[in-house]
Amino acid sequence: MLETFEYINEDLPWFFAGISFIFGAIVGSFLNVCIYRIPQERSVVFPGSTCGCGQKIPFYHNIPILSWVLLRGKAACCGEPFSLRYPLIELLTASLFLWVWLVHAPLVAVVGMLFVAFLICATFIDLDHMIIPDRFSIGGMVLGVILSLLVPALHGYHGFWLEASIQAGVSAIIGALIGSGLVYWIAVLGEIVFRKPAMGEGDVKFVGFIGAFCGWQGAVFAMFGGALLGSIFLLPILLLGRLFGGNKAPEQSTDDGEEGEEEEELQFGAQVPFGPLLALAGLIYFLGFSHYVDAYFADFATFFFGQW
Ligand SMILES: [Zn+2]
Repeated sequence: MLETFEYINEDLPWFFAGISFIFGAIVGSFLNVCIYRIPQERSVVFPGSTCGCGQKIPFYHNIPILSWVLLRGKAACCGEPFSLRYPLIELLTASLFLWVWLVHAPLVAVVGMLFVAFLICATFIDLDHMIIPDRFSIGGMVLGVILSLLVPALHGYHGFWLEASIQAGVSAIIGALIGSGLVYWIAVLGEIVFRKPAMGEGDVKFVGFIGAFCGWQGAVFAMFGGALLGSIFLLPILLLGRLFGGNKAPEQSTDDGEEGEEEEELQFGAQVPFGPLLALAGLIYFLGFSHYVDAYFADFATFFFGQW
């Protein structure tokens, strides 16, 4: 079977890449359902997709990306507009699956696609509801450890399967512990310094999930990379808010004001979901930055602990 696979890969280098893209678009379509229904505690399988008007959407109007374009963003039944976000998430998933396929060995790529799917789901649920459901963070952490045992190459271990498997499993567990531990202590310190919660419990578990798939280097990079991305994205918003918005930060009017804490300041992590930034940094690590990061940490470790 592997030989057939290699033949196809050699003769038609774009075959599996194309499959990855199409598969990603289909998964993206499913992720749209997950992002919408999981926070409502509804089944993601049943019932099938329905339009806002209550009509069932037939499969031929539910083709990822294409249907939205062909129907010009409107429902076929009633003309209700569909958000551009649906095809964009499908396109995003498709592109990232293709990327994962191109930069990783086949087995690692398949595991990576699952990792990416979790990241996308958690990101958009966090943007919509300011929560990361446990099934993504804790569930993802457990899944990461299991998949590391099965596919040790995920953590760069090759060779004798059982040995590599144990090494990779240990890497995943250490990654989850260091990732969540680091964020936990930063959150504790942040709360002491700023006297209000800087990061949520959801973020702690979420970095643990990233660590289970990417090892401790990936988790540490996600934390600091996420904070860096945050300051790059948020500083202009904060500045513009100060310049044009008087005392009030922009666009933080009560979305759903059940939280009961109406802060004037735009505060990091509470009003601004940190999850998407963590996810983006984790993605950057997984999609090609890991070589630089790992080399940097290796130098760092050598500097402090000597050769080991
Ligand atoms: Zn309709």
